[in-house]
Amino acid sequence: MIHLPEDNFKHQGMRKKLIDQLRLKGIDNEGVLTAMMKVPRHFFLDLAFLNQAYSDHAFQIGAGQTISQPYTVAYQTALLNIKKGEKVLEIGTGSGYQTSVLLEMGAKVFSIERQKELFDRAMELLPAMKYSPKLFYGDGYKGLPGYAPFDKILITCGAPFVPEELVKQLKVGGIMVIPVGAGEVQVMNLITKISETEIDKKELKNFRFVPMLENKAWGKGKVIVITKVTK
Ligand code: SAH
Repeated sequence: MIHLPEDNFKHQGMRKKLIDQLRLKGIDNEGVLTAMMKVPRHFFLDLAFLNQAYSDHAFQIGAGQTISQPYTVAYQTALLNIKKGEKVLEIGTGSGYQTSVLLEMGAKVFSIERQKELFDRAMELLPAMKYSPKLFYGDGYKGLPGYAPFDKILITCGAPFVPEELVKQLKVGGIMVIPVGAGEVQVMNLITKISETEIDKKELKNFRFVPMLENKAWGKGKVIVITKVTK
């Protein structure tokens, strides 16, 4: 059984300051900020890193991976425009922090992680926090065909291309938020599925993510035809 640290006035004060910083950086979606105010980010890091938990930076979580920067979590979550009860597929559970923010917004979350160590930790931590996501150990490129279609799909690692299989698993009218770029920098893409065969793609700001890794045994997807690009 996992032992949760406390979440006292000091932690809540630190969190409030972080939320204020996000506002100053342009995050104005109150639903997202309220959800982030509710999730104790220090539960996802070792207690020795309390200050790092409430600074606006990514941080190491083991297996060579990072918990995303709070600004990035806020930015991606705001783009998803989550409504209560929506089915959301997340690729890259990592620490489970982003998963928890989506759950606080009332989404039904399905999340995939390819690092066993991180998957195992999230499987313990999130239920201990009374969250009930559906967590999967596997390959994000494949998505979860058995649970599709999804209202929203969120990719929290840098994808070299838009995986066709994930577009297939998105509802028509659904939104996918995906940082695209094979190098150090990715462009945040806001994709809307406009029909079974077409997507509409908006390219937004640059970010830096850990890569969305492929496994030869898991196979590689194809690039879907992009019908409209808006800058
Ligand atoms: N949402 C996470 C961010 C973690 S970083 C959080 O809030 O902490 C991105 C994660 O994507 C890493 O944990 C990495 O292991 C995972 N990842 C990379 N490639 C993947 C793939 N093909 N399938 C599933 N997860 C993947």
